[in-house]
Amino acid sequence: MSALPSYDQAAAMVAAHAKRLSRFRPAVERVPLNCASGRVLAQPIQADRDQPPFSRSTRDGYACHAAEASAHAFLTVAGAVRAGDAPSGPLLPGTAWEIMTGAPVPAGADAVMMIEHIELVGDGAASKKVRLVPLRTVKPGENIVPLGAQGRAGDELLAAGAAVHSGQIALAASCGYSVLEVFARPRVAILTTGDELVPIETAPAPGQIHNSNAPMLTALVSAAGGEPWVLPTAADNAEALDHTLAQAVTADLLLISGGVSAGKFDLVEPALARMGARFHFTGVRIQPGKPTVFGELPRDAAASTQSPALPFFGLPGNPVSSAVTFLLFAAPVLAALAGSREDTPRFALARLAPHPDRSGKPGLTRFLPAFCNFGAKSNEPPEAAFVPWHGSGDLSALARSNCFLVVPEDAGDLEPGAIVRILLP
Ligand code: AMP
Ligand code: MG
Repeated sequence: MSALPSYDQAAAMVAAHAKRLSRFRPAVERVPLNCASGRVLAQPIQADRDQPPFSRSTRDGYACHAAEASAHAFLTVAGAVRAGDAPSGPLLPGTAWEIMTGAPVPAGADAVMMIEHIELVGDGAASKKVRLVPLRTVKPGENIVPLGAQGRAGDELLAAGAAVHSGQIALAASCGYSVLEVFARPRVAILTTGDELVPIETAPAPGQIHNSNAPMLTALVSAAGGEPWVLPTAADNAEALDHTLAQAVTADLLLISGGVSAGKFDLVEPALARMGARFHFTGVRIQPGKPTVFGELPRDAAASTQSPALPFFGLPGNPVSSAVTFLLFAAPVLAALAGSREDTPRFALARLAPHPDRSGKPGLTRFLPAFCNFGAKSNEPPEAAFVPWHGSGDLSALARSNCFLVVPEDAGDLEPGAIVRILLP
């Protein structure tokens, strides 16, 4: 067993490989801004003009000269400016302008008194006067974002490689982008193996089970920014595997589920070897997921993708093992192929809830289904609890979990209340 890499060693091999792959620039697609969520930017977002394009009030209140206002003398209200208006003139000494959030500040004003901090006298347009209430002062620059403070025309506000979500979409919209250049999603072949598997539509005969890994991996691949390509399920014989594997070589990444343990019908490794595979590891000291295989298949130069070899993962068929090993190992390679700069896998810290015994296993890092309450009390870390499970085939436990609790190699009993790492989906 000691010949197998530890989790950290295997993760480092995957990370190094992902780094090499990230040198190949994926193809670029143009998508409407409203369809860009979840994609990876292939272009920088540049400011189309100074941002903000005018000195902007961040409050409803009165634009003023800070030194004058802080002397608490009444200032004549000389005008009003609403969001969308251009001020009709500059601020003259002894005056203030009523101003709304988001409106341009009149030239000559260097601060905005908040509406909550002022006292008004007079009601007619000519006689209205305003001053700061006693004890309140306003500093130069207060409640104003100066012209160009967030960026100058032409500045790069966001670099290529950023994941696009709502905030990035809002920024792009504010700069006038209706279409974004994003990287093409890597095409991820999903090859499930097993004589016992039947599709969802087919009633299982005795001894058969529904193929749940194909839809699960489809969901995982989509969530990780890939384009799932589900191949026909291969039976547990060499011919079926060779035939289906041969179809997969045009993919950008190949995921094979099942057939990688040491059993008599675990034929995936020999089939990959027949295709000239180079194996980076064939097993990792983790649980679940110990038989995981990582390597590359050669492909001819005419293949449509840019990387010279096809990275593949053989994921153990037990569903919890498949899910964990996808997140730990396949997701970083997929992210690199997608042109993403996001860190994956993602870990967080949580406090361990009281639990039945879940001690470490000698020599194995464990990733056990857990449920983390992220809405924990303020100033408290989130609390993670083990989900009771019956081993790596326990789909109910998987479905009731929202993370995996990391039990370090050779850990004794984990004490409730301890700070632990969780693997996030
Ligand atoms: P294997 O890795 O092929 O030895 O499979 C380990 C366990 O996972 C067996 O109980 C299989 O029946 C189960 N399994 C394998 N592939 C799938 C799949 N696609 N969907 C659901 N269970 C699977
Ligand atoms: Mg099998």
